[in-house]
Amino acid sequence: MADAKKTEIKKIAAARTLRKLMADHFYELDRAVKEGGPKIAWCTSVGPAELLRAMGFLVYFPENHGAMLGATRMATETIPTANAAGYSPEVCSYMTSDIGAFLRGRTPLSDAYEGITSIPKPDVLVYNTNQCRDVQDWLAWYGRHWNRPVIGIECYCGVADVTDVHVSGIAGQIEALVPTLEGIAGEKLDIDRLRETVRLSRQCSDLWKEVLETATARPSPLTFFDGTIHMAPAVVMRGTQTAIDYYRDELLPELKARIADGVSAVEGEQHRLYWEGMPIWGRLRDLAMQFLELRACVVASTYANSWIFTSLDDSDPFNSMARAYTELFIVRSDEYKEKYLREMIDTFAVDGIIFHDCKTCPNNTNSRHGMAQRLGEQSGIPSITIAGDLNDLRCYSDEQAKTQIEAFLEQLGECN
Ligand code: SF4
Repeated sequence: MADAKKTEIKKIAAARTLRKLMADHFYELDRAVKEGGPKIAWCTSVGPAELLRAMGFLVYFPENHGAMLGATRMATETIPTANAAGYSPEVCSYMTSDIGAFLRGRTPLSDAYEGITSIPKPDVLVYNTNQCRDVQDWLAWYGRHWNRPVIGIECYCGVADVTDVHVSGIAGQIEALVPTLEGIAGEKLDIDRLRETVRLSRQCSDLWKEVLETATARPSPLTFFDGTIHMAPAVVMRGTQTAIDYYRDELLPELKARIADGVSAVEGEQHRLYWEGMPIWGRLRDLAMQFLELRACVVASTYANSWIFTSLDDSDPFNSMARAYTELFIVRSDEYKEKYLREMIDTFAVDGIIFHDCKTCPNNTNSRHGMAQRLGEQSGIPSITIAGDLNDLRCYSDEQAKTQIEAFLEQLGECN
């Protein structure tokens, strides 16, 4: 019994507030559909959310719904429905689980929030291909289904240095969205409102960065697995005061108190790991428990860092949005990514890296072209690559991953 107690995941008290904020977010969208306003824009995770909010839209993020489908494992039931409708098992399983769920009339929102029976019908769908082309295909499916406009930004990929040429190209595309959005919103863009939204978004980003940086403490007060939950306001509420209040008044003080009191997320932290790639949403708890039992803390990840936008600048909203969206890790060259990962290894004092080879997301998988080996040579930090998927658990073997992780931690133990 004593051992079982030791391996319990330490709850973060701020999660209570977070649950309420997420409920408010979805009920607000649901009310807008039922009561006929405000207008709703769907937006990809690093799409122009600041612009949409500044124009009075409520913003809904389908990838957030995709993650819910994965975390609840409803995806297992819904992916085959999208496969049968012509969407390959090889393409993004956020997309296939989401489209499949819609075709089956299912959503985890109904289980979590009484009275919500469906995802919110959009007035416009806005993408940014900075992550992948799948987001464009995904929104296009709903655009056809509901006969709603699908507009967006076609981004660069493999960018080494983000230059003014990149920035002006993307900024021009963001500005070009404005007339269509004004037509749908029924109002003109107020540039001061956009500046204010960019300012709020930047503040949220800075606070989220500060939250993640608490994990530089030894022992760390939070894990990557905590981060996948507490990143929600940075993802779906960036550009609002609500997200800022949550990080500034609730989560950060709690984590700082943990550091001051020497409270670790992982009791007896012995190893500090980095997670590179997408989460395996349907196995987050199992993995968190395994690392806890092995006294290993996954202290940082590329994934949670993807909502840090330090270039946002309210004095230059369009250009700074363009720069922030293009500086994203996923948009960059391998050379840049390796440099970034070396910095992460140093900053968080990491002694091992876990690469997730995510079957249906090659875009967020960096282990397929020799990066793990190169990084090992450059940094001397060992790594393993786990085969899996963000939502499609048919691509993941619990036994194999468990054995690999155990062997890796054993190897790290011998190195220390
Ligand atoms: S980046 Fe990967 S997980 Fe995200 S939408 Fe694109 S394919 Fe899906």
